[in-house]
Amino acid sequence: MNFYDDNFGWYELGPGDDPEETGEFYRRTQAESVWKKCSGCNRRVKIKRDYAYCNACADKREHGFDI
Ligand SMILES: [Zn+2]
Repeated sequence: MNFYDDNFGWYELGPGDDPEETGEFYRRTQAESVWKKCSGCNRRVKIKRDYAYCNACADKREHGFDI
């Protein structure tokens, strides 16, 4: 099973992961997220209130790209 959200991108259930727990984490993250415009790509994404960037942009920034 795979999950996707704009805060963390894709995450997969590994062999040691509890599907209940991962599903619960996903639902909680989604529940805490709001639709807003990403400061990097200007896409409308569902991210946490205190986040300014979607996962793709956060990733780029982490790798030293200027966005
Ligand atoms: Zn973005």
